[in-house]
Amino acid sequence: MTERLDGHTLLISLIATPIRHSLSPTMHNEAFAKLGLDYAYLAFEVGNEELKDAVQGIRALGIRGSNVSMPNKQAIIPYLDELSPAAKLCGAVNTVVNKDGKGHLVGHITDGTGAMRSLKEEGVEVKDQIVTMTGAGGAGTAIAIQAALDGVKELRIFNIEDAAFENAKETVKKINENTDCVATLTSLKNQAAFKQSIAESAIYIDGTGVGMKPLEKESLINDPEMIHENLVVFDVVYIPKETKLLKFAKDNGAKKVINGLGMMLYQGAEAFKLFTGEDMPVDYIRELLFKD
Ligand code: NAD
Repeated sequence: MTERLDGHTLLISLIATPIRHSLSPTMHNEAFAKLGLDYAYLAFEVGNEELKDAVQGIRALGIRGSNVSMPNKQAIIPYLDELSPAAKLCGAVNTVVNKDGKGHLVGHITDGTGAMRSLKEEGVEVKDQIVTMTGAGGAGTAIAIQAALDGVKELRIFNIEDAAFENAKETVKKINENTDCVATLTSLKNQAAFKQSIAESAIYIDGTGVGMKPLEKESLINDPEMIHENLVVFDVVYIPKETKLLKFAKDNGAKKVINGLGMMLYQGAEAFKLFTGEDMPVDYIRELLFKD
């Protein structure tokens, strides 16, 4: 019989579909156990159709918080009582807090703070820097908004002309209206502008997922001249740990290359802090979940 779960145990949920593959339940439960916190974290297969009832369930059962993943990150917003500034700007939520179990649900987004913390832990300062980004989908938007909130001077987003391009127009508008960061959006077709932007940037963030299966043989940068010794290259992908982009950047003299493992870990750690008020033991969790 487990010693940990009893009548006082507080529940944290994860609502998404598909979700059984997620590392989050293991990450949070191991962290609760390590710190001796009386919480349990469970995943529930919930799509848009069940979402409204699921959120009522969180209120009715006094579930203390929930992570939210696709396809619910945007759809959950109308059912919440309040949004953090970043979640409001992103128009997306990945963490819901039900403070004291009283039913007032506040939506947060920790993907962006997780990415920024990952950069910081690697000694990379974003404040006052020029940053070039590709990708303006879910991950890209969260990173762009948080980078702007954290004081990036100029954020230059490049995207292919798909549905995310329209979304990126909105993101750029919101950043320019609500933060001191100057954001621009350019088609990735304009390779000369992309090259010029990276030459002027301290950080390049690839938020597209190019480099992950089925695009593991691809990279959006293939010209060695685009990599310079002052450039930090951050890829949101964490499987594989070294994408074609990161290998190319490392081989061609980038200042530093960073994969998406830290972002994954710290988005969880930021949610853990919001749920429990405690710091996740990140070194322990990294060793447990992400060692080679
Ligand atoms: P999304 O579908 O919402 O957005 C994808 C973005 O990439 C869009 O801007 C799209 O225009 C662009 N894109 C797609 N194919 C492209 C191509 N061939 N060339 C150039 N641009 C292209 O996806 P998402 O949810 O934002 O996820 C993107 C990646 O981020 C995925 O690989 C995902 O696994 C990863 N991710 C990592 C973390 C983490 O914690 N490290 C968190 C969330 C997402």
